[in-house]
Parts: sequence; structure tokens; C-alpha cells
Amino acid sequence: MKRLLFAVAALAFSAASLAATPWQNIRHPISGAPQSIGAFANGCIVGAQPLPLNSPDYQVMRPDQRRYFGHPDLVLFIQRLSTQAHNLQLGQMLVGDMGMAAGGRFSGGHASHQTGLDVDIWLQLPKSRWSAQQLLKPQPLDLVAADGKSVLARHWQPEIASLIKLAANDDEVSRIFVNPAIKKQLCADAGVDRDWLRKVRPWFAHRAHMHVRLRCPPESLECQDQTPPPPGDGCGAELESWFAPKKPGAAPVKREPPPLPPSCQALLDKHLL
Ligand SMILES: [Zn+2]
Repeated sequence: MKRLLFAVAALAFSAASLAATPWQNIRHPISGAPQSIGAFANGCIVGAQPLPLNSPDYQVMRPDQRRYFGHPDLVLFIQRLSTQAHNLQLGQMLVGDMGMAAGGRFSGGHASHQTGLDVDIWLQLPKSRWSAQQLLKPQPLDLVAADGKSVLARHWQPEIASLIKLAANDDEVSRIFVNPAIKKQLCADAGVDRDWLRKVRPWFAHRAHMHVRLRCPPESLECQDQTPPPPGDGCGAELESWFAPKKPGAAPVKREPPPLPPSCQALLDKHLL
């Protein structure tokens, strides 16, 4: 009986995580002045722009998924960062998921990326450009050792740290999520210039990419920002807590997604009739 319950629960979980959401049926941005609405994990966007797929400085992965839309600030940020990376000869920047045309919840994968202000940038910087075929089936490079305690020396390169630091030093970036082992390596290598580390936050997974989040654009009045990270470089007790043995506790409860912000619900009602 227990086993059956478990199977049913597992099925429900996978069905929920793969459930189609109405947002993927909106194929083109909603016209209007750019507005990021709601929270990063429960929101939408009006006036999104596509990231141009052709650039000498970056390449866009999985373009068939149409997750290359974002607030114009995000498009500009990606262009700015890739130009800096190009000028420093760090390698080709690989852009993963941004958001969908009107934002909203993806049908699979991560819960955020909903307001056009989040982008996944891979932590590998190939020296030559990938073929269209490689971009359609990109191979992530796992930078973290199997025990999760450190990065793999054979994959880690100083260029990766330089890219993360460039992103963290951008005024419009509010947070960058990386695996705790990656943050640990950055902390060890940073030297005296450490202010940028404050924005680099340890988080689950993120072993092959960094997730960059911009602050709410000032004119997006319904955009909900997060509180800034605590002061300091975050390299001490907070980071160590990620490597502490897990305390036994109840399994996390899978919650239903919260109700949409009214402006996003209205947008869905209007565009999905
Ligand atoms: Zn992400």
C-alpha cells in the first residue's frame, strides 16, 4: 500500500512538473510598453523582445524551444556581457533559457524565468563556435565533483570565474545563482576584490550554468523585487551550511502554484480566448 501511494505521488509529481501551461501557447510578445509583472517565479511580461539569434559574441541554445524572450533590459544585458567577454577573449558565451514570449511558467524545468528578467548562461566558454546541431542538442559540462564539495579541476578555468565576476559587477544584476561548490571556488580565488561575491548565491543544481537575475526595471511598477542579499561576500558560515550533513526532516511538500497576479491572469484571459 505504501509503495502504491508512493507510486501515485511520484506520478502526480512528474505530471505536475511536466504539465503544459497556457503560457507556451502565446507565441509572440504582447505588444505594449515593456512591463515585468509579478514575481520571478509567478509573473509575466508585456513588451518582451527576442534576443537576436545571430551575434558574433554569443550563441543561443535550443532556439527551437522559443525561450529567448525577455525584458529589453535583459536583452541589453546579455549583449553587454557577451561583448565584454568577447573583448577579454574569454570564449564563446552560450545563452540558455531566458523566458517565453509573454513570460509565465514553463511546462518543464525551473519555476522562475517568468518575468523576462532571468537568463541561464552556461559555464563553459568554447573557443570555437558551436554548429547548429550542437546548439539544438547542447551538452552541459558538469563542473562539480560527484560529492558536491568542490569543482572539478579538469573543467574549471579562470575564464569561468571572469565571466561570473563580469556579470556580478553589472549594476542591473541583482543575483546570480551557482552551485555551492562553484561559489566556494570563487571565494577561494577572489583575493582582495570581493564585493561582487555578495550577489553570487549558492543554490541547488546549477552545476553547469549560472542563473542571472536582473533587478526590477524602475518603470515596471507591478514587478516584485527580492530583498537584496545580506551584506558581505557570503563566503563564511552561510556557504559552509551548504556542505554540512543534512539534518533529517520531513520531505518537502509540493505546493500548488500560487494564483497569478491579476494583470497576468487578465493577459491570459485576453490572449488565449
Ligand atoms: Zn535559470
